[in-house]
Amino acid sequence: MPELLAPAGNFEKLQAAVLYGADAVYLSGRMFGMRAAADNFSIDELRLAVDYAHEHHVRVYLTVNVMPREHEYPLLREYFSELKSISIDALIIADLGVLALAKEMLPHVAIHISTQANVVSAETCRAYKALGASRIVLARELTMEEIKRIRDAVPDVELEAFIHGSMCISYSGRCLLSNFFTGRDANRGMCTQPCRWNYSLRGHYELIEEKRPDMPISIEEVHGEAFFMSSRDTCMIEHVPALMESGIDSFKIEGRMKSAYYAAVVTNTYRMAMDAYAAGNYVYDPAWERELDSVSHRPYHTGYYFDQPTEQANVTEYPGYLRENAYLAIVRSYDEETGVALLQQRNKYSCGDAVELLTPGSIGRPFVAGEMWNEEHEPIEAVPHPQMKYYMKMPFPVKPGDILRAAVD
Ligand code: SF4
Repeated sequence: MPELLAPAGNFEKLQAAVLYGADAVYLSGRMFGMRAAADNFSIDELRLAVDYAHEHHVRVYLTVNVMPREHEYPLLREYFSELKSISIDALIIADLGVLALAKEMLPHVAIHISTQANVVSAETCRAYKALGASRIVLARELTMEEIKRIRDAVPDVELEAFIHGSMCISYSGRCLLSNFFTGRDANRGMCTQPCRWNYSLRGHYELIEEKRPDMPISIEEVHGEAFFMSSRDTCMIEHVPALMESGIDSFKIEGRMKSAYYAAVVTNTYRMAMDAYAAGNYVYDPAWERELDSVSHRPYHTGYYFDQPTEQANVTEYPGYLRENAYLAIVRSYDEETGVALLQQRNKYSCGDAVELLTPGSIGRPFVAGEMWNEEHEPIEAVPHPQMKYYMKMPFPVKPGDILRAAVD
């Protein structure tokens, strides 16, 4: 059974991914990992995160996948020294210098080669294996057939592939658009995503970003708009059987900067599909698609798995995210005798609202929000305050970690 690998941008997201079925999680420390805007983990938080994950038999991979400059190596040495006391299962690395230092300072930690290294061939897999890597996170630009050929050619290297989440219009992050427009380096986790900004046409061929009239780009307008580079999100939920038969060892979900709700729902949905296939009773359930539609995302596509972008454009005219179904609360505890749960608020809602309960291993279960009380046991009509703890009468038993959300249309 391949591994289901989920993003963990902070401790809450880590807990969601673990509870909802991840076999492994990937996360960053405060330094040297991509996704600078995610909360990320200090050394002490990292230790707690690894302990928590290991208690739940979930592996932890730490991203160190920036390309450090010369002057950053002393700091990287310090960082690796601190990591010696933490039982990380693997480091995700993109740069040869970082790889060499990891082999020298953390020789017992497995090395995974990041998608930032853009590995697209069996030859490159072998070269990285010879340097000590046990796994390759393949470039997102490969087709399913190409992945299978690599699998056959290098059976002794683990292969990991992105199966869900944001894509990049550039070559797996190797892009200077963000540097060009804002000075923030996409290759150092700070991409401002200029490929998704709103551009208008000046004259016939000049494209102007709305806030940067002095930086024109030559391009053509279609139907009055020109969102010409915003890629769709990958979604392979309809192709889990093909993935399971592909020889990929690890199915990776993108999204460390997304919400804990996103980590829970996406992990849970692929877990259900993978388990159904492994149990031999796989039937595609359209409700899985509905689950994935309930999280924040751009229009979905199968990325490069079956099409080249030249044959079926993998870009969206829709510039922003399709809205996330409101994540209302998380269950903290449940009293079986009274049928009352203690919850913690994430978004406002009221008695009588149509809601759903999401629990690991199943799709959302609809019901109408019933009686509620504050922590002083006084009746309340709504839960207005973020993080507020309150009690609610539940129509069926629930468990800590279950998620209450607005009903999905
Ligand atoms: S600007 Fe767009 S294409 Fe460039 S790295 Fe960022 S997400 Fe990728």
